[in-house]
Amino acid sequence: MVNFLIFGPPGSGKGTQSVKLAEKFNLKHLSTGDMLRAEIAAGTELGKKMSSIMSKGELVPDAVVIEMIANKIDSTKDVAGFLFDGFPRTVAQTEELEKMLNERGMKIDSMLVLDVDHDELVKRLILRADLSGRPDDKDPAVIENRIEVYRSKTEPIIDYCRERGIYQPVNGVGSIDEIFERLCEFMEEYF
Ligand code: ADP
Repeated sequence: MVNFLIFGPPGSGKGTQSVKLAEKFNLKHLSTGDMLRAEIAAGTELGKKMSSIMSKGELVPDAVVIEMIANKIDSTKDVAGFLFDGFPRTVAQTEELEKMLNERGMKIDSMLVLDVDHDELVKRLILRADLSGRPDDKDPAVIENRIEVYRSKTEPIIDYCRERGIYQPVNGVGSIDEIFERLCEFMEEYF
């Protein structure tokens, strides 16, 4: 099994690229954002509790997403590995993920980080708002908060991964296909 983290600020294109990469490399795409939105759409108790946190652009508690991910890892069969998208988002989540994978004879093999500048991110998220219908894409103040939460809580994971020699920055500006090619080039080394 080969396990990748796809990383980058909100609007950097993680979700779009993850779908294409998962298909190409037979990876299981695990997006905690998608899982949480599915809970909200299904009207579950958990979804109801999480939706106000998400609409403010804050992070949901670590324990919630860790449990979701653990369940998915254990119920997935017949894949070449996992592609984690939007998870981990804190150093604590990263430590938990490493532990979970190690206990199952796996590890985080590589962290691919999409680099996109601030103004481009805001532009993309505002454009996406109509298509996605996501409340957290609509409000400029919430977008700024999500980017700020990324910088303060999520970006420290980059140092953690750099120390382990698994940090791989990738230029996230260009066409969807160009960025996909750049990511594929790095990922192909692992197969
Ligand atoms: P994006 O990266 O485009 O902002 P996501 O779909 O990954 O969007 O996440 C949307 C929201 O879901 C986040 O702003 C946060 O509230 C919540 N969320 C998703 N994944 C996590 C996570 N791993 N830890 C905490 N909160 C999360």
